[in-house]
Parts: sequence; C-alpha cells; structure tokens
Amino acid sequence: MTQPKSNKVFAHIVVIGNELLIGQVIDTNSSFIALELNKIGVEVSKISAISDTEKDIIGTIKMGAKKSQIIITTGGLGPTKDDITKHSLAKMFGAKLVRDEAVYAHIKKLFATYNLPMNAYTKTQAEIPQGTIALPNSKGTAPGMWTKFGNCTLINLPGVPKEMKALMQEQVIPKIQQTFETPYIVHKTLLSVGKPESELAENLHEWEITLPKQIQLAYLPNGKRVRLRLSGYGPKKKEIAQLVFQKEQELIGLLGNFYEPYTEEPLQEQLYSLLKQKKLTLAVAESCTGGAISAKIVSQPGISQFFMGGVVAYSNEIKESQLKVKKETLKKFGAVSKETITEMATNLSQIFQTNIAIATSGIAPSPNIQTKEEGKIYIGIFFGGKTFVFYDQLINLTRNQFIDQVVERALKNLIQIIRAC
Ligand code: ATP
Ligand code: MG
Repeated sequence: MTQPKSNKVFAHIVVIGNELLIGQVIDTNSSFIALELNKIGVEVSKISAISDTEKDIIGTIKMGAKKSQIIITTGGLGPTKDDITKHSLAKMFGAKLVRDEAVYAHIKKLFATYNLPMNAYTKTQAEIPQGTIALPNSKGTAPGMWTKFGNCTLINLPGVPKEMKALMQEQVIPKIQQTFETPYIVHKTLLSVGKPESELAENLHEWEITLPKQIQLAYLPNGKRVRLRLSGYGPKKKEIAQLVFQKEQELIGLLGNFYEPYTEEPLQEQLYSLLKQKKLTLAVAESCTGGAISAKIVSQPGISQFFMGGVVAYSNEIKESQLKVKKETLKKFGAVSKETITEMATNLSQIFQTNIAIATSGIAPSPNIQTKEEGKIYIGIFFGGKTFVFYDQLINLTRNQFIDQVVERALKNLIQIIRAC
C-alpha cells in the first residue's frame, strides 16, 4: 500500500487494564475511538493494550510520543488502588497532583443529586497532575485529561465506555479539530462476491499498482465476500471525493458480475424499516443457524411490533412436532431439502400467523468430519402466499463463518423479496 504524503495526523490508542489482557473484558474502546478519529481525518497508526503498571504506562506513552502526534489512553483514572494511570502520569511529568476546582464542584454536585456522601476516595477524583487540562466528564466523576507532552498531545480518558464516549464526542473531537489541521479522508466500500481474496487481488493487481498515492485500497474478506475499501486522503475535500468516485467507477467495471453495492446500514435495520413501512409480521424457524437469525433480528430496537418469535427446530422430531413437517417428507427427501424447507417456512407462517416466515436447514461445517454435504444450505422464505427457496453450498468456511453467512443471506434475500413484491 502506498503512503500518501499529505499532512497526516497520526494517533496511537492505548487501552490500559489487566482485565483486557486476561480476556475478561473485550476492548471496545479502541475501535470506537478509532472510528471517531477517522471521521475527522486523524489516522490511527497503532493500538496497544497494556497492563495497569507504572512501567508499562510510562514506557508506552514515552515511546508512542516519539512517533505520533496524538496519544489517547483509556482506563485507570478511577479512585481505587488499581487505578494508577493518573499517578503514573504525574510521575512521568514530574508534577504534583492538584485539585481542579471546577471538577471538584462537578463531583460535589453529582453526589448531592444522588444524595450520596463523598469520601476521601471520591475527593481524589478531582485531582489531576499540575499542568494538565481537565476535560469535564458529563457521565461520571473521573475527568479526562489533555496535556502537551513533548511534541505529542496526550489525552487520558476513563475506561468506562459510556464515559469515554461522552468525553470523546463532547470534548476530545472538537478540541482536536481546533488544534490540528487534518486532511480530508473519504472512504468508499464496495463488495465483491464469489471470488476468494487471493484471486481477486491477482485480478486487480495491474490496476492497483497504478493508483495515485492519495488513494489506498484495502481488502476485507469473509470467505468469498470481500469488502473493498477505497480511501482517499488530501487537503481539498472536493478533489479527493472526485478522485475516489473515479476509482470506484473503475473498480466496479473491473469487478463486473462479481460487484455488489455495499450498504453500511445493518441488515436488521433495513428489515425493520421495511416491516414498519409495509406493516408486516415475521417469524423464524431455524435448524442449522440455531437462533442466530432471531438474535440478529432482535438486536434492532423496536422490532417487537413485527417479530413474533421463532423455533429452533434442530432435530427432525421438533421439525415434525412443532412445525408439522410431514414424516414422509423428511424420510423421502431428508431435512436438508427443498421439500422440507418449503414445509418449514409455509407451516410456520400459519402456526405463528405471520405474513412472513424464514426457515433454514443446512449442514454446518464440523472440523474432522468432511462430507460431500458440508456447507449445503436451504433458506425458505414464505411471503405473499408462496414460499421462495434458496439453495447453495458454502465451502471452505469455519462453522461460525457459515452461520454468519447464512444469517446474512437469509436477511438479504428477505429484504430483496419484500422490496420486489
Ligand atoms: P472508574 O472511574 O470507573 O474506575 P477507570 O478509568 O478507572 O474508571 P477502569 O477501572 O480501567 O476505568 O475500567 C472501568 C470499566 O470499564 C472496566 O471494568 C471495564 O468494564 C470497562 N473498560 C475498561 N477498559 C475498556 C476497554 N478498553 N473496552 C471496553 N471496556 C473497557
Ligand atoms: Mg477503575
């Protein structure tokens, strides 16, 4: 990949906490921060997860400050003994911890609102290393901090995601925009469906090496579905947007039949809008996806008006007893068949009294058990008085990738059917 020579601003994100290193807490702070920084043209060059030790905190910040213009840390700003970020920073700066009166007043007010007594621990929350600027925390007590450290701007935020997010959006982003001149970044994502990444990369190689230095191409594969992200960087927004558009058109031409538009709006959100707009109800009968479709659907707020429920019909017995699939159908054609999936979807819509029913039946990959049948998948969608059946065989996937892809296909197919009918 080529590195453009525009006035880039690089940031290093450091997430602090032993709980992250033992796998107890999944680090979601860094991806949120990276997305927010990206939106304003700051490029994240590194993300580090480190322990709650003075040595690691000081060592990582000192090293990072030589390479990045911005360092953002999260975690360890609380009042308890294991929260040592603030003390480590004071030591690194050679500064005392002093009370910030505005922060102290804020904490006092918060405690008064909830009628809680303030103890010595909470009072220390108002202390920050001398010379740092306190960033008010609208969702908690520990303030964020902003300090110039050598040529680097050091920003420290609490670990609690809700507090960190509020501080990023309310304080950090506006302050970075005031302080730095960042280039414009324009991203455009396309989808290539049907070719593995390596084959695609080979096909696109000749074109890719002619890309100007302001444009980068990234491959984000999931089996044979590869997202292709074009990123353009430059000081003039209009110029860079035009260039990205031009390269996007070239890429669409090169992908030919493998091209699919990529939409950022999650499938469950698209589905929700359609169900709401057309006043439709939905039920799901899942064999090989074991509830994953239902889980995806219910991740959408407000869906309870339209999603009536589901059955995980994994065994043939349950397909028969709960979904009224005929014994003869199962015996004659098997569970993974057009006939069975048709009965599953059609019967479910009657049992649950819904306008739409989705059903899945397939053979999810199992390590060590390789059969010719592996990856076979039937998706049945009952809508408008008839059942549509989709069949495919998805190969070279892990079990989870298989389930993810079936969920994605089921929802995409359903969305297409509702749109078309
Ligand atoms: P507090 O004032 O609540 O103690 P803090 O700044 O000291 O805040 P931590 O004690 O490091 O923050 O973390 C508080 C909680 O925030 C953790 O228990 C964890 O659940 C969550 N958390 C911390 N870091 C991350 C992270 N990188 N990603 C997601 N969650 C995190
Ligand atoms: Mg803490």
